[in-house]
Amino acid sequence: MSHFASVEMTPGDPILGLTEAYLADARPGKVNLGVGIYYDEQGRIPLLRAVHEVEQRLAQEAKPRGYLPIDGLPAYTQGTQKLVFGAESPLLAAGRVATSQTIGGSGALRVGADVLKKALPKAKIAISNPSWENHRVVFIAAGFEVVEYTYYDPQTHGLDFAGMLADLGKLEPGTVVLLHACCHNPTGVDLNAAQWQQVVEVVKERQLLPFIDMAYQGFDQGIDADATAVRLFAASGIESFVVTSSYAKSFSLYGERAGALTFVAADRDEALRVQSLVKRTIRSIYSSPSTHGGALVAGVLNSPELRAMWEQELGEMRERIHAMRAGMVEKLAAHGAPQFAFIQQQAGMFSYSGLSKAQVDRLRDEYAIYAIGTGRICVAALNRSNLDTVAAAVAAVSK
Ligand code: PMP
Repeated sequence: MSHFASVEMTPGDPILGLTEAYLADARPGKVNLGVGIYYDEQGRIPLLRAVHEVEQRLAQEAKPRGYLPIDGLPAYTQGTQKLVFGAESPLLAAGRVATSQTIGGSGALRVGADVLKKALPKAKIAISNPSWENHRVVFIAAGFEVVEYTYYDPQTHGLDFAGMLADLGKLEPGTVVLLHACCHNPTGVDLNAAQWQQVVEVVKERQLLPFIDMAYQGFDQGIDADATAVRLFAASGIESFVVTSSYAKSFSLYGERAGALTFVAADRDEALRVQSLVKRTIRSIYSSPSTHGGALVAGVLNSPELRAMWEQELGEMRERIHAMRAGMVEKLAAHGAPQFAFIQQQAGMFSYSGLSKAQVDRLRDEYAIYAIGTGRICVAALNRSNLDTVAAAVAAVSK
């Protein structure tokens, strides 16, 4: 008798399913725009020189692999705080910030959700419509009721800011609001600084709890500019908020699972109490984070020479994305599809292209170009070799 006989097949992740179909496709010149990964001009996942340098130093040192503390390497968490808030932040000086190294940005989201469920058992969470699909999955798994706020406007391919403000203004006090710091996934549509300031005001007035997911710091305008939302909340006098970070993209360390969870509290004492709850929560899930990815990030952030090298490499990734956006708009127009100019206004790795499910199906069936049914395309998977083919195909299915 099997104890598992009643287990039914659970549907797989649609994005991973797409990659399987892409890999099985024998057509030459196939392109996968469904991924959430930055590829370089040669279509490879880069190994950053700064990261490689630390890796070689670590290999030379050949240190033993003991356990890290529950909340990770201090050099990593302190380095993260400076990136997130700026080295001179008064919040850091006041001891109001508690950061833990986590298993990727995903781990930060889940630990953060579990901690909030314990601290605020009745709170709901509001996510943007649309949002990264895993936001909903993670918060539901942690026991939250998930509601949505207006975000994307399909007519303009931009932000429905009036709708967003109106919806935030209606949330019950104490609701957790998940905000994408920059490079919104899946739409590529971000707020400007003036709009963020208005969001800060509504959050303050409604006594909402901001939960800022920053998975792409440095991928749009730069390390500090991309943290504008966090910096405005930090300066606002709001006493509590949460920030999750991921180094998957900015350090090209996807599989190393390098993330961080940061709580901002009213004062030092409250930060210590919150951190004790975070540590208890981590202990009950995976006990402590892994060593290697953390050591790589900490090694880069704490060496002035490698840090400068990393910032340059990050800048190159950012510039390549901008160039691909501009190139795509130009080529689409050349192929008779000038209506895609908005792609250049969007930010980060993704663009909501406005392509319908039927058009996405045609791209796959007729042109071996893979994208997600929602029309999200990964701009960072474009390069000079595939740009024209992709633009021609997108223009053809849009006629
Ligand atoms: N948040 C968002 C918005 C993301 O797009 C991602 C990754 N694609 C994450 C969090 C999680 O990142 P990680 O790979 O570090 O778990």
